[in-house]
Amino acid sequence: MTVYQRLTRPLLALSNAADYEEAKHEWRTTGEVWDGDYTLPDEHRTKHPGHCLCGKTIRWHFEIENTENGNIDIVGSDCVHHWMVLRHLTEVEGLDPSEVTEERIQEWIELNVNKLKKNAWFRMHGEMFEDIWEAVADIDLRVNVKVVSQYWDYVTERHEPKFILRRRARGKPGDKHYRMASIVWRWNHPDNPKNQQTKYGFPNDRLWVDMLMFNAHLEEVIDKLGKVEQNRESRIEQVEARKALSAEMRDEFDDEEFATNLVTWAEVIRKTFYDGGVDEVISTRRLDHIVKAFTIFGDKMKAIELCVARFDEDTKESFLDLYTKIDAGVITSPSDETPVSEESVTEE
Ligand SMILES: [Zn+2]
Repeated sequence: MTVYQRLTRPLLALSNAADYEEAKHEWRTTGEVWDGDYTLPDEHRTKHPGHCLCGKTIRWHFEIENTENGNIDIVGSDCVHHWMVLRHLTEVEGLDPSEVTEERIQEWIELNVNKLKKNAWFRMHGEMFEDIWEAVADIDLRVNVKVVSQYWDYVTERHEPKFILRRRARGKPGDKHYRMASIVWRWNHPDNPKNQQTKYGFPNDRLWVDMLMFNAHLEEVIDKLGKVEQNRESRIEQVEARKALSAEMRDEFDDEEFATNLVTWAEVIRKTFYDGGVDEVISTRRLDHIVKAFTIFGDKMKAIELCVARFDEDTKESFLDLYTKIDAGVITSPSDETPVSEESVTEE
């Protein structure tokens, strides 16, 4: 039995005419639709909730009516057939029958089935959707992102990751390493021509589940964001403290070059320390001591040696070695490297 035949028999039984081709024209869509059997009004709940008149399991319950005998029933979106829509268009929406082409009917079905689905969806979840959307949208823009490159940040004086919204999920929901695609991107981002608000008017199941999940973990997420923000702020404080020290040293000190070298030296050591390369840093106080020792002895290396004397041999040696390189001007930062010229790449 085909799908069509499965609907034929029960529909005919509820009609006046004995011949199906005649009987089917007694029916039209009413425009009512319900999402899930538990939202159905009593008159439908007692019949075949969760199922089309043809017997198929359905989610969307479309009401149809027989205009001859007043029978009403329910079909799923697959069984909302053309003739039911044709009557709806001409009788309820007042279109001229000559305007009603096959394409027009198809278009109406697509548009209105979707509109009906949308209404049903928002009737069901609308209030919750608005609440969650309001809570998560801003956070989503900061969290459901991926790193695409790095840029030099002049405020934090370090490379910072550059993010864009994650457009595709990584992994599957429930996986430990699942990374959902951006909620805003999927729902209504203006740069996304297929955003669901424009295309369907309601979120698909995947987006809705992601929104619920994201909302459930929101406190954790906000907590993490706060830590990232704190890290940035303390970094900025460090940078400002170093700049202040550097300026102070240059002011007080005749040998500006030595001051600059010392600050650079301490900075490289600090970076190496954060990368796990050394176990010690040169504090501001220690730099001060080096400067004082230099004014007494007039010897740069001796001043430095005195002030790193408390470190272990390896550390001491590497710190001194580093200073000699900086003072000799042989240390170059990665950004000073000469890029490979285009010419030498394309040459064959
Ligand atoms: Zn059906």
